[in-house]
This record gives sequence, structure tokens and C-alpha cells, in this order.
Amino acid sequence: RYEQLDELRQDILKLNEKFNRLERVKYPGNSFVIISGVAPISTIEELNSAIDNANLARKSVKNSLKAACIIFDEELKMTLLKEAEITNDMEQALKNKEFVVYYQPKYKINTNQLVGAEALVRWRRNGNLISPVEFIPIFEKNGFIVNVDFYVYEEVCKMLHNRLKKRLPVIPISINVSRVHLNDEDFVNRFETLVDSYKIPHEYLELELTETVLLDNTLVAIDIMQQFRKKGFSVSIDDFGSGYSSLNLLKDINTDILKIDKEFFSQGEMKREEKIIVSSIINMAKQLNMKVVSEGVKTKKQFEFLRSIGCDMAQGYLFSMPIPVTEFEAMI
Ligand code: C2E
Ligand code: CA
Ligand code: CA
Repeated sequence: RYEQLDELRQDILKLNEKFNRLERVKYPGNSFVIISGVAPISTIEELNSAIDNANLARKSVKNSLKAACIIFDEELKMTLLKEAEITNDMEQALKNKEFVVYYQPKYKINTNQLVGAEALVRWRRNGNLISPVEFIPIFEKNGFIVNVDFYVYEEVCKMLHNRLKKRLPVIPISINVSRVHLNDEDFVNRFETLVDSYKIPHEYLELELTETVLLDNTLVAIDIMQQFRKKGFSVSIDDFGSGYSSLNLLKDINTDILKIDKEFFSQGEMKREEKIIVSSIINMAKQLNMKVVSEGVKTKKQFEFLRSIGCDMAQGYLFSMPIPVTEFEAMI
């Protein structure tokens, strides 16, 4: 029963406190966390698999500094199975070119002009198109995101390269930068080498870093953003306004573009408070010489409001969903 499970967790928290009081004497300056995994067992023959399951449950705890007790239930079992399947298939999928890049257009608000697009990855797997929210968190955990991201970056470079070669019009494309790249000192160079190998002028690429990545690794992120800007790439803060100390970020970070989080536009009708916040963000960004893109714009009313307060660009279902490359190229 859930109430009983909750009680059990509380007991473990208490036990952890007790343990810490005791052990602090022996190991001054250290603290301890009890992380436990629990699995059901009905006969002694199941002992080994129950121990494995309990261990799997224990290892599923992420970034916890608090005592935790995880039960191996059906839900966890399914999640772990799905994760294992994705992990098993990912390398072959990359070789088979099952990852595909979709593009979502961005429009300049006061002229309705197509001025850019964001590259968004999908996984075409057994006839289904899987959303990145299903696999990116797993790839960020196991590191494979580095390969997928560079695959996406290269596909974008190829598209731009072909258009430039044929003297077709091009617009800047933004790509997403996973938090994992921040641990790689060579990331900026590796990115530049790729872009230069396709002879793409740097102004055609924009790098999006999410606000949470910036908050978690502020100093490294600031440094990386500076390096990219010095090389002539644009950088933007993605999901701006979704965190708790968004405003604090702005005093330390030089960025070209702010992307206002789609949560502000998730209801067709914006609340008075949301409108005030969005207007203030835009005002502030202007004074700091940043451009603003509103993301997830869904209704004509939101668009009119954004126009009235001087937002520069918009991206969202009102204009277009993310679309395959051929469809996108036909629009430019
Ligand atoms: P994001 O960077 O915030 O991307 C915007 C997401 O909003 C996209 O979801 C897009 O399809 C969705 N969206 C666009 N317009 C609307 C709208 O009007 N309403 C709503 N509700 N949603 C809208 P998507 O493609 O599922 O991507 C989800 C997230 O996965 C992205 O969020 C990004 O963080 C990550 N992601 C996607 N592609 C890549 C990639 O190539 N590399 C990395 N590292 N992350 C990626
Ligand atoms: Ca993004
Ligand atoms: Ca976003």
C-alpha cells in the first residue's frame, strides 16, 4: 500500500539521521546516506533475481544526497526495460541513420519573415517517430548524446553546405547543446573544426544552452559561450524563465538571444501575471542588447500580444511544427 511505503521511507530517513549522529563521532566531517533498493520475493529460488532487482532499484536513484528507498515494482521494471532496449539499439541506430533532423522555423514578428530555424532530432525506429524527450535523458546519462549531437550538427552543416554551393538562400540554424558537452574541454574546437570542414560561415549557426545547464555549471558555461561568441557563432539561452534564478543569470552572461520558455504560452489565454513577466523580460533584454525569441507560440492572440510588446521573433505551432528537411528547404 502506498501509505505504508511512504511510512517506510520516513523510517529510513529517520534511521539515516540516527546513523549519522552515531557515525559522525567516528568519522568527523563526513555524512552518510542510506540508499536502499527493495524487491519482492516469494520463494527462495527467486533469491538471486530478487537481489539483482533490489540492486537495480537502488542504482536507479539519481543525484540524491538524501536517504532513499526504491521499490522494484512493475513501473520501475518497465522503465528499466525501455532504457535497456534504447541503450542496446542506439549504436546500430546511429549507423543505420535512424536519427533524423527536423527543423522548426522561426519568424520575425513585425514582418512575418522566415528568419531562422531550430534543428530538433527524432528517432525513426521500427516505423515510429520517437520524440527526443524519450531518449535524450538516457543518452545524457550514458554519454551517447555526444555522438547523436555531433551527428545532428553534421547533418545541419551538410544541408547548409549544399545550399551555399548551389547559391540558394540560407538562414541561420540553431542547434541544441547538451549539458554533457560542458565536461569536454575540446567541445568548442571540435564544433568549429566540423563547421569549417563544410566551409559554413559561423554567423549561420547558433548554439542553444538551456537555462538549467547554465545554472548548474555557470562558470564553465559562461566560458564556453564566450569562446563561441568570439569565433562569430551566436549563442542563446533556451527555456529562459523556467528556472528560479533566471534574472541572476543575465548579469553575468553575455548572450545574443533569449528564448522565452514555452510554458508561458502553454495556455491559449495568457494570464495577466504571465503577460507582465514576459513584457518585463523583453524590456530588459532590449536594454541588454539581446534579441528575444518566444517559443511554443500557439495562438493568434499570443502573437498579437508579442507584437505589441516588441518581441523580435517567434517559434511555435501557430506557424509550423518541426518538419522534415525537404519540407523545410522548400520554405526558404
Ligand atoms: P527545446 O530545445 O526546448 O525544443 C523545443 C521543443 O518544443 C521541441 O520539442 C518542439 O517540438 C516543441 N514545440 C515547438 N513548438 C511548440 C508549441 O507550439 N507548443 C508546444 N507545446 N511545444 C512546441 P522536441 O522536438 O520534442 O524536443 C524536446 C527537447 O529535446 C528540446 O527542447 C531539446 O531540449 C531536446 N532536443 C531536441 N533535439 C535535440 C538535439 O539534437 N540535441 C540535444 N542535445 N537536445 C535536443
Ligand atoms: Ca532548444
Ligand atoms: Ca526551449
